[in-house]
Amino acid sequence: MNSIFNQLLNVKGAVVEDARIVGSPLRPVPALEIRARPRKGMLRCPQCGRRRHGYDRGGGRRRWRHQDFGCFRAELVADMPRVDCPGCSVVVAMAPWTEPGSRFTRDFERECAWLMTVASQKTVSGFPHVAWRTAGDIAHRVAERLKAAIPSPFDHLTLIGVDETSYRKGHTYITVVVDHERHRVI
Ligand SMILES: [Zn+2]
Repeated sequence: MNSIFNQLLNVKGAVVEDARIVGSPLRPVPALEIRARPRKGMLRCPQCGRRRHGYDRGGGRRRWRHQDFGCFRAELVADMPRVDCPGCSVVVAMAPWTEPGSRFTRDFERECAWLMTVASQKTVSGFPHVAWRTAGDIAHRVAERLKAAIPSPFDHLTLIGVDETSYRKGHTYITVVVDHERHRVI
């Protein structure tokens, strides 16, 4: 069953160990709790982001919200070890499926950020049940990740040309900057 859950959830870097539906007086709506562990070699230092080996099991249990599964709210639960990072210190490892300080998986954050671009505040608050302020933090993290993944046109510029011209009968000016090495307008 766990391997089916692994495939269905498709959380990068996670190995599913167990899944169960949990409810309690404090949790009137039952949730799907997925016990997982980070895949071998996937632990990172939360401060510098480098891959590190586990140091001990002293990090404790952590919980992240994942995309809903059918009609159930899904939560990933994992015992996170600590890592000994030479440049930083002994710190609780960052799980491969999340960002430092986030209570959500990256997949959940991506879905939520997309919803924010196509739906109203009321929908975002009501459908994935995320407070608007929290949704703002999520959007910020997703934007940072996209920025890091997409190279900037200003990277590795060595030779540029700048010219100014006017249009609309000479009343409006535009400045054109050209990357001479890659032959494109920036
Ligand atoms: Zn580090």
